Amino acid sequence: MSTKVERRDALKLVYEQACGCERCPQLVESRNTVVFGAGNADADLMFVGEAPGANEDKLGLPFVGRAGQLLETLLGEIGLARGDVFIANTLKCRPPGNRDPLPLELDNCRDYLLAQLDLIQPKVVCTLGNFATKLLRDDPTGITRLHGQPEIRTFGDRTVRLYPLLHPAAALYTRSNVEVLREDFARIPGLLALPAPPQPDRPADPALAEEVASDAPPAAAVEPGEPEQSVAPAPDDQLDLF
Ligand code: URA
Repeated sequence: MSTKVERRDALKLVYEQACGCERCPQLVESRNTVVFGAGNADADLMFVGEAPGANEDKLGLPFVGRAGQLLETLLGEIGLARGDVFIANTLKCRPPGNRDPLPLELDNCRDYLLAQLDLIQPKVVCTLGNFATKLLRDDPTGITRLHGQPEIRTFGDRTVRLYPLLHPAAALYTRSNVEVLREDFARIPGLLALPAPPQPDRPADPALAEEVASDAPPAAAVEPGEPEQSVAPAPDDQLDLF
C-alpha cells in the first residue's frame, strides 16, 4: 500500500509529464499553460470538468472564472472549500476558441485523468457536464438524464462512487439549473459519509510512481532520453496541492 506522500510525489511526476505533453498538436500550439488540476492531493471528493477556458489557460488553474465561482459557492454551502477537494478536467489544455474537445483529444488526455484518479484515490467523483460524464461512463447517455444519480464505477485499480452533475457553466446559462445543481450538491455529504466501495485487488507492493511513469501517462508525453530539465518544473504554487 503506497503512502500519501508517495502518491503525492507520483502525482507530481504525472504533472511534469502532462506539462511536456505534445500529443495534440493544435492544443500545444494554442495553449499558454497546461491546466493539470488543483486541490487536495488526498481528497475524498474530486470534480472533473470539461476543459480549461481562457482564464484557466492564463492562470494554470481549473475553474477560476464564473463557473468556478459558482462551484466554490455550492461547495461552501455543503461546508467544503476548494482546498478540501481536487478539481481536474477531461482535457488539460484549452481548446482554441473554447470549442468542444475532439474525440482524439479526449482519448489522448484520458490517461492523465485515470492516473489522477488512481493516485488521489477519491471516494466520490463528480463529473461536471456531458464530456466528463460520457468519458468516465464510456457511454453516450447525456447529463440531463443522469445528473444526481450516483453509481459505482471502477477505473483501473480504483472503484469510486461516480456522481454526474450539471456543468456549472450550463447552470449559469439557464438559471433554473442552478437550483437543480444545488439540490444535487446537497447529496454529496451523504455520499462522502458512506463507506468507500470495495476496491479491486491490487498488487501487494505497487511501485506507483514507476507504474505511472511506465503505464499511465501517454507514452509520447516524454521523449525517451529527454533530459530532465526540458520537462516543465512542478512548482507547488501552480499545482496547488495541499
Ligand atoms: N473551467 C474549467 O476548468 N473547466 C470547465 O469545464 C469549465 C471552466
